[in-house]
Amino acid sequence: MTHKTLLNAHTQLDKKLDILHGVGPRMLPKLQKLGLNTIEDALFHLPGRYEDRRQFKTINQLTDNQQEVFVGSVLASGENATTRSRRKIYEVIVGDASGKISLKWFRYRKPWLQKRFPLGQKAVFIGEVKRFAALREIHHPDSELLDADQNLQQLIQSDPLNFGRILPVYPLTEGLSQKQARKIWHQLICDFADLTQSFIPTEIRQKYQLQTIPEALKQIHWPDNGVDLQDLENGQDNSRRSLVFDEFFFLELGLALKRAGVQLEKGIAFSCKHKYTIPLNKILPFKLTEAQRRVLGEIKRDMMAPQPMHRLLQGDVGSGKTLVALMSALIAIENNTQVAIVAPTEILAEQHYQTFSTWLDKLGLKTGLLQGNMPAATKRDRLEQIATGEINLVVGTHAILQEGVDFYHLGLGIIDEQHRFGVRQRSLLKHKGVNPDILVMTATPIPRTLSMTLYGDLSVSVIDQLPPGRKPVTTEIFRSSQRQQAYLRIRQELEQGRQAYVVYPLVEESEKSDLQAATVAAESFANEIFPGLKVGLLHGRMKTAEKDNVMNSFRQGDLQLLVSTTVIEVGVDVPNATVMMIEHADRFGLSQLHQLRGRVGRGAEKSYCLLIPSVHYSEDAARRLRVMVETNDGFRIAEADLEIRGPGDFLGTRQAGLPDLRVASLLKDIRILEEARYEAFEYVKITDQLSTIDAEPVKRELIRRWGGRLELAAIG
Ligand code: ADP
Ligand code: MG
Repeated sequence: MTHKTLLNAHTQLDKKLDILHGVGPRMLPKLQKLGLNTIEDALFHLPGRYEDRRQFKTINQLTDNQQEVFVGSVLASGENATTRSRRKIYEVIVGDASGKISLKWFRYRKPWLQKRFPLGQKAVFIGEVKRFAALREIHHPDSELLDADQNLQQLIQSDPLNFGRILPVYPLTEGLSQKQARKIWHQLICDFADLTQSFIPTEIRQKYQLQTIPEALKQIHWPDNGVDLQDLENGQDNSRRSLVFDEFFFLELGLALKRAGVQLEKGIAFSCKHKYTIPLNKILPFKLTEAQRRVLGEIKRDMMAPQPMHRLLQGDVGSGKTLVALMSALIAIENNTQVAIVAPTEILAEQHYQTFSTWLDKLGLKTGLLQGNMPAATKRDRLEQIATGEINLVVGTHAILQEGVDFYHLGLGIIDEQHRFGVRQRSLLKHKGVNPDILVMTATPIPRTLSMTLYGDLSVSVIDQLPPGRKPVTTEIFRSSQRQQAYLRIRQELEQGRQAYVVYPLVEESEKSDLQAATVAAESFANEIFPGLKVGLLHGRMKTAEKDNVMNSFRQGDLQLLVSTTVIEVGVDVPNATVMMIEHADRFGLSQLHQLRGRVGRGAEKSYCLLIPSVHYSEDAARRLRVMVETNDGFRIAEADLEIRGPGDFLGTRQAGLPDLRVASLLKDIRILEEARYEAFEYVKITDQLSTIDAEPVKRELIRRWGGRLELAAIG
C-alpha cells in the first residue's frame, strides 16, 4: 500500500459508527457507552465468549450449566404459581424424540408468550440449562420460531448470521441485544477489517506464525467452523495471540527507543541550591521517612538532567506524597521558575493550598489558589500575578489548564491523584511552559509482578513505607441490623475528642436519591443519633464557598462528624479523624474503598473503618468487603481488585503515559509480552533506531499509536 492509500484507510477507520447500516441516533449512544466511537474502536472490541451453533443437540444430549441450542415442539404452555412464594411463572414444556425440558419465565407478558408458544409450535431454543434434582430447566430462553415443515438446513440457510456456526458473544450494555450486535459486527468485519494493516515485520510474523491484523480480526469475530472452541474461549487461539503480539510489539518498540536515548527534547537542568530546601527541613515538625528521601533523590536526579522529567510517584494513601511534592517544588523555585499543582477536586486544591502556603509563607515565598468559579476580579488579579511571576507556586483544579492561564516561567508541573486525569491533561500542563518537568502522583499501585517487565523503562518512584507510628486501620463489616454497634464505635471515638466521617455513595443514575439519603442522614445524626454533637454535610452540589466553610470547620475541629458523599474520596487529610463509616459499602469499588479508608489512620491514633453494606449485595461485593477487612496494603488490594474484576483494562497503561491496550491483558499475556519485548528491542537495534528505509512504515505507525506520549514525535 502506498502512503496515500494508507492514509485513506485510516480516514475510513476513524469514521463514526453511524456510517454502518442499522446504527442510527438510537443505537449510537449505546455503542458510545461501550467506549466505541470509531470504526477502529469497534473492530477491536472483541467477543467475550462464543456460542456453538454449528449443530443442534437433541434434548437428551444437553449439558447442564451450558449455553445450548436445540429444536423442540411445545407440549404444554401456561401460567403456574411457584409453591413457596406463590409468585406467578410461565412455563412451556418442549420435547423432541429424545426427551423433554421445561422453559420458565419469571418476568413476562402473558398474552405475548401465549401467542408465541401454542401447542405444537416448533422452534429453536437457546439458553443455559439448569438442573434442579431430576428436572432440567431453562430460564428466559431465546427462541426462533420454525414453520412446521421447515427443516434445520433451511433455517441455517435463511439465517446464516445466527445459525450453523460459532457465534461471537459481545460484552454489551443494556438495550443492545446479541442479535443486533452480531449484525453490526458482521458488517464491520466484511466492510472494514481489510482496511486494517499489519506493520509487524514479515520475518517476525513468520517466526511466531502470527496472522495479519485483517485475518486475525476476521477470525476472532467470525470464527471458521473448524477452530478449536476451547482455545478460542480461553483466548489461546492464534488470532487473539496475533492481536496481542501486535499491541505489545508497538508498546515495547516505544520503550526500546526511549531506552536507546531517542528523546531529543531539551528540558531544564535544575541545580540544587538548597536555598529553601534546607531551611524547610529545619522547620518541619518531623523527619522525612527513608522512602521519602529515596524518591526525592530520584526526582532530583531527573530534575538536574537536561531532558524533561516524566516521573510517576506512587505511594499508598497516607504515605506522604505531598511532602515530596513540596520539596521538589522548592527545587524548581530555587531555580527561579514557577510550580503548578493540579488537583482533581476543589476540596483537595483548597487543602493543598493551605498546606503549601503555610510552608512557603515561612520561607518568604508566594502561593496562589486558582479555582474555576472564583469572583472575576480576584481571578483577574491572580492570573496577572501568575503571568508576572509574582506567584511562585499555583495550586488549583483543572482551571489551571485552561486557556488564559499563562505562566512567567513554569519549571515544574505536578498532578496529584493522577488516576483522575488523562494523558490530555498532562499534555496541557506541559504546554504551559517550555518542556517543564512533570511529576504525577498516584496512590494506585502497579502490581509488582508487572512493573518490572512493563514499566522498567519509565521513571516510577515508589514510597513503600508509611510515616512512623501509623497503626493499621481496623475494618469491620456491620449488617444493617447491627447499625447500633457501629454508632457505638463512633460515639466512643467522638467522646475521646476525635472526629468521624460518614460516607454515602453518589452515582449519577440515582444522584437525587443519593443526595437525599446523605442529607437526611446528616439531620438524623444531629437530632437523633448524636444530639448535641456538631454535624456537617458536604456534597459536590454545594457552592465552593460553602464546601470550603464546612471543610475548614471540620479541619479545625469545630465539626465533630462530617456526613459526605464521595467528594472526600481523594487526598483529604485531617489526622484527628479516626473513624469512618461507609454506607452502602457494597456499591463502591475496591480501590475506591481503599482511597476512602485512607482518610483515617493518618495520625498516631488507632483508627476504624466501619462498612455497612446494603441489605442485598452481590457475591463480588462480599469479596471486596472481605478483602478490605483482611488487609490495609494498597498493593494487595490492587491485586485482589484485579482478580475480582478479571484482567480487563485495570489500571490502564494510560496512567504511565503508554498507549492503551485494547486486546492484550497484562495478567494473562505476560509470555507474549516477553516475546514481543525481545523482538522489539532487537528490531530497534538492527534498524539503527528505526532509521532504515524498511523501518519507515513501522516508525510511522509507532508515532500514530503513541501520539505525543513520551514525546516520540521528535523522531518523526
Ligand atoms: P498522601 O500520600 O496520601 O498524599 P499525605 O501527603 O497527605 O499523604 O500525608 C499524610 C499525612 O502524613 C499528612 O498529615 C502528613 O503531614 C504526614 N506526614 C508526611 N510525611 C511524614 C513524615 N515523614 N513523618 C510524619 N508524618 C508525615
Ligand atoms: Mg495526597
